[in-house]
Amino acid sequence: MPRLTCLLMLAAWITAVPEARGDPSLRAENVIIVTLDGFRWQEVFTGADESLIDAKSGGVREVADLKQHFWRPTADGRRKALLPFFWSTLAAQGQVFGDPSHKAAARLTNGLKFSYPGYSEMFCGFADARIDSNAKKPNPNTSVLEFLDNKAAFRNKVAAFCTWDVFPYIFRAGTSGLKVHAGWTLITDTPLTPRQRFANEMVSNLPRYWPENVFDIVTMEAAREHLRRHKPRVLYIGLGETDEWGHGRRYDLYLHAAHNADRFLADLWRLLQEMPQYKDKTALLVTTDHGRGLTRIDWTDHGKKVPGAEFIWIAALGPDTPALGVREGAETTQSQVAATVAHLLGENFQTASPRAAPPLAGIRRLSGR
Ligand SMILES: [Zn+2]
Repeated sequence: MPRLTCLLMLAAWITAVPEARGDPSLRAENVIIVTLDGFRWQEVFTGADESLIDAKSGGVREVADLKQHFWRPTADGRRKALLPFFWSTLAAQGQVFGDPSHKAAARLTNGLKFSYPGYSEMFCGFADARIDSNAKKPNPNTSVLEFLDNKAAFRNKVAAFCTWDVFPYIFRAGTSGLKVHAGWTLITDTPLTPRQRFANEMVSNLPRYWPENVFDIVTMEAAREHLRRHKPRVLYIGLGETDEWGHGRRYDLYLHAAHNADRFLADLWRLLQEMPQYKDKTALLVTTDHGRGLTRIDWTDHGKKVPGAEFIWIAALGPDTPALGVREGAETTQSQVAATVAHLLGENFQTASPRAAPPLAGIRRLSGR
């Protein structure tokens, strides 16, 4: 072969490489990330807290009814009653980080322990001191969602559906061009599917109980229908009721919101396994933006001055994730989530964002190379 032809072929091959999959031995082609805002590790690992199932500390309206739903004599029984999908499938077939009794605390590093700094750390991969409020200001940093959306293989196949209306700023949707549907917003697909019409009727008719945060069911419906219709490769679903009911000192509604989120995850996982694009080719990552207080007084709260609210949890399930269950002796940080999302897809977020923390160790089986 003439040397020039050979060089041209080599050049063509080299330029083609960035468009190829990062690691052809991986099975995951899609990733879904779901967050439960301000949902504590205490409930994840030990289920309902008996000291909060009362009128005074927990604001519980029907104590006997709540106990019937979620109280069991053992921590294992309680957590399975509260989060059946999480414990029967996600933890059994995947991995869970953040159980302090397994010397595996997961913590945020931003020190502020509230939402915008938490989501920014989670999706941009590091704590940025400039992000010190929940104000609707565009994030100066690139998120892993934007990073993926900028790659040809993922372009316009990345979307975020969030109950909280600050997310378009967290993902700087105005400049990144990322699809972010948030808060009390109508779906604008044309024509609308029957379920999308129903979701829009909820937006128009439900009481705007929290002006900046729509009820979880509305976002769940919108996200699920987007998945069915547009088949994104990367989908983020941000749920917010756990945090809102926590602030409202309604432990009953806080637990029911978490239980509903778990059922949503179960339904979503079932749906994914029925769709050829997703079946056995999709990773699921579930986590939270911050913890809450530890006591009967401050369990409702979080923030810089609330001890313990820096502790979170992270769970993952997928075709390339070894079934290690609750991880032992693995201290992790929220900042590792961003690179982990890319890593699960065979991509390296740290090349675009050098300040990002590395992916969670052991989350993905090693490739053959
Ligand atoms: Zn909050």
